Amino acid sequence: MFKKILIANRGEIALRVQRACRELGIQTVVVYSEADREAKYVRLADEAVCIGPAPSAQSYLHMPAIISAAEVTDAEAIHPGYGFLSESADFAERVEKSGFAFIGPRPDSIRLMGDKVSAKQAMIRSGVPCVPGSEGALPDDPREITRIARSIGYPVIIKAAGGGGGRGMRVVHTEAALLNAVSMTRSEAGAAFGNPAVYMEKFLLQPRHIEIQVLADTHGNALWLGERDCSMQRRHQKILEEAPAPGIPRRLIERIGARCADACKKIGYRGAGTFEFLYENGEFYFIEMNTRVQVEHPVTELITGIDIVVEQIRIAAGEKLTMRQRGVQLNGHAIECRINAEDPYKFTPSPGRIAMWHTPGGPGVRVDSHAYANYFVPPNYDSMIGKIIVHGATREQAIARMRIALSEMVVDGIQTNIPLHRELMVDARFIEGGASIHYLEEYLAARHTA
Ligand code: ADP
Repeated sequence: MFKKILIANRGEIALRVQRACRELGIQTVVVYSEADREAKYVRLADEAVCIGPAPSAQSYLHMPAIISAAEVTDAEAIHPGYGFLSESADFAERVEKSGFAFIGPRPDSIRLMGDKVSAKQAMIRSGVPCVPGSEGALPDDPREITRIARSIGYPVIIKAAGGGGGRGMRVVHTEAALLNAVSMTRSEAGAAFGNPAVYMEKFLLQPRHIEIQVLADTHGNALWLGERDCSMQRRHQKILEEAPAPGIPRRLIERIGARCADACKKIGYRGAGTFEFLYENGEFYFIEMNTRVQVEHPVTELITGIDIVVEQIRIAAGEKLTMRQRGVQLNGHAIECRINAEDPYKFTPSPGRIAMWHTPGGPGVRVDSHAYANYFVPPNYDSMIGKIIVHGATREQAIARMRIALSEMVVDGIQTNIPLHRELMVDARFIEGGASIHYLEEYLAARHTA
């Protein structure tokens, strides 16, 4: 096992990884930008290295600074967290070439999955069902593009091969709008992701977002750890996740889960990962794979009892997975609410100093956050400042516990989206379960006009 790990991230996930390291008896090095000097995990770490000024490009995305921090502190491995460099194949490669272990998949797996066109092709080869669409990237010939759209049937969605974070997508309802949409998505994709390739998929009208968590070791073993329902989204960004997904027959999930674990073996995947699917009318359609730990990993941890971050570290150290698929038992129900520093209804960011901070507690309640009273939320990064995760024997009990947790939570000095979560926990459609990916936006629009 490693003696020392460098955490190349910030915020709650930096603290989360640090806790996993502690549990394994591993020393931690954190890197931080000038904006994160007073962060809690920086004070708690065994060693901390300032890697640059606040802008991410000069700190958390600056590969040479991170790698030299690992060199000067004698770290053996680097955990990238999520966001920032976590899905950069170039970073993973530089980490390994510099002699450190990368706590994540092999660089070629990241590259394969980072391009959504090659990811889809790999999935089709591995027997994972995909959204009907173009075979590979769209050609230049406008007649050919029109033909593909007709054969798929409108509406279609044009997606950037290199897209991510909900960006680089455009829905097209009519043939008249098609070619213009393709060329606009191409030029945006070229500018934003350095790759103008786009592809086409059928736009599903009322799908749910269901994802499968996997773990694979370097000895040919792969497991799937149940599913998560992440359909509550605004602008393709998740705000609330739960596990298991309400109302989907277990046999369907078991079939798709087994396919995901098989696909991991086929592509020689290493570490933790997530297969994201849209689910509609009893069918699963793969959309992409995330080759890293996800924000919503705790809901899976609470229903399986498996520490995903600890497993990531063990796998990177070359250890074998100790559990078998039969041993992965799903227990009860878990819900996560992401706490964002933002206006709960207008969604404008609300950075600044937190005056008061009281977190909830009690049975089945977990809070993952680096925030505290008097902590200054910097304006430079993502607005998420923590997560409340609850577990209950049933979905009803989990919802009740989340309601109590949200009622106990106090954050003063900045605005947060807690009021929105409180509303959702008593919303009839949420309580019923199984809402589509469009529900939250419809809810917000209706609330706006009411
Ligand atoms: P990103 O990498 O940017 O997150 P994804 O491919 O995962 O992109 O898609 C993000 C979200 O966009 C999905 O969760 C879903 O809400 C929507 N979406 C993507 N593809 C489709 C599709 N074919 N039909 C309907 N909605 C889609």
